[in-house]
Amino acid sequence: MKKKKLLVLILGIIVVFFFSKIIRNFTVEQEIQILKSEHFVVSYSGIYKSDAEKISKNLENNYAKIRTDLKDVKHELIKVYVYGSHQKFSLATGLNGNVNGTSRGPNEFHFVWTNWFNSVFPDDPLKTAVHEFTHCVQLNILIDKAKETIITQDRLTFDKKFDKKFGAEYPRWLWESISIFEAGEVNSLSVKYTKGKNLTLEELNHSNQIYNIGYTIIEYLTKKWGKDILPKLIASFGNIEKTLNIKPEEFEKGWIAFLEENY
Ligand SMILES: [Zn+2]
Repeated sequence: MKKKKLLVLILGIIVVFFFSKIIRNFTVEQEIQILKSEHFVVSYSGIYKSDAEKISKNLENNYAKIRTDLKDVKHELIKVYVYGSHQKFSLATGLNGNVNGTSRGPNEFHFVWTNWFNSVFPDDPLKTAVHEFTHCVQLNILIDKAKETIITQDRLTFDKKFDKKFGAEYPRWLWESISIFEAGEVNSLSVKYTKGKNLTLEELNHSNQIYNIGYTIIEYLTKKWGKDILPKLIASFGNIEKTLNIKPEEFEKGWIAFLEENY
């Protein structure tokens, strides 16, 4: 008898899930809508207007703090593209797999409004938006800084040289950690799991484990050297030796000790 009740309950949940999914598909915005605020232009479809309003409000609420934290220079209006499904996101960006967002230069980013209807374990899409916005801020600063060394009047030549410099010098662990930190993407279980793998910063440049542990790198950095060190590290294109006056291995050692103590 107990088994039967459980089966009915599970079937009930499945029916409600698919029914809600169908209703949602019919009631979300079908055509692309635009929502403008002071610093962002949000283009969206496949989500509700109220979702877009939440995105816009949350981005505006984080705008000044993140730009102050990282010492951003003058920033143009930012175009935000939100998709209701991974398929639509992939079609627009060319990115596949479990990627949920991407920045395209300092003034544009795209992301999926993840929820239980389109993801197995959905991320918080408001945090994804802040994460991608933080990539835009980093790029804006790096481009401004690169103008000191890449001297050319030609925009295309500059872009090409900047892409090369960015790819060769700016480490992925830093690029991701700063965005993860500003978006507050951390949970101690994932930190503990990745901590056990003993990955170096160099290894984290090529591993998705950075998404589990990146928060703690910036947490350690700002606790030990103060928050003004962050813009300095960005402006140096992630040069630890020049910015902190220690070897990267020493930095890693300190960070691992910090992890042992706090997680
Ligand atoms: Zn990222």
